[in-house]
Amino acid sequence: MSDDLDALYRELILDHSKHPQHFGLAPDADHTGTSHQKNPVCGDEITLRARVDGEQIADVTWEGRGCSISQASASMLADLVGEEDLSRGEAITLIEGFREALRSRGQIELDEDVYGDAAALTGVSKFSARVKCAMLAWVALEDALAKA
Ligand code: ZN
Repeated sequence: MSDDLDALYRELILDHSKHPQHFGLAPDADHTGTSHQKNPVCGDEITLRARVDGEQIADVTWEGRGCSISQASASMLADLVGEEDLSRGEAITLIEGFREALRSRGQIELDEDVYGDAAALTGVSKFSARVKCAMLAWVALEDALAKA
């Protein structure tokens, strides 16, 4: 990855952590699933709620606290789901691809056309201690969808 891209990605992560998108849980209602995930190593916590409409994901909201990577990742994920009008199946495919890239130790890059701002988290895969931070919200969505 070039230094310019690296700087741009760092800025995106900072921006999302300062201005989290879809922050604040929507009311618990029918067809919602909620997941609370913790990363005790870093002290990150995410509560994420997904509302589904049949096979489509209607919206994703979340609350949390912790390091900038964990919070930015949740914000980026909620943005991505909100913009792309994803089905459950599409979301699961994205989560699996994200997990594979984050565990690749820098071998697999996230495609910006597919992952939007979340592609900025590509570089995290080189730092194994931070992979859990970046994965937290994605694990929460996987769990929330299974409950919704
Ligand atoms: Zn963290």
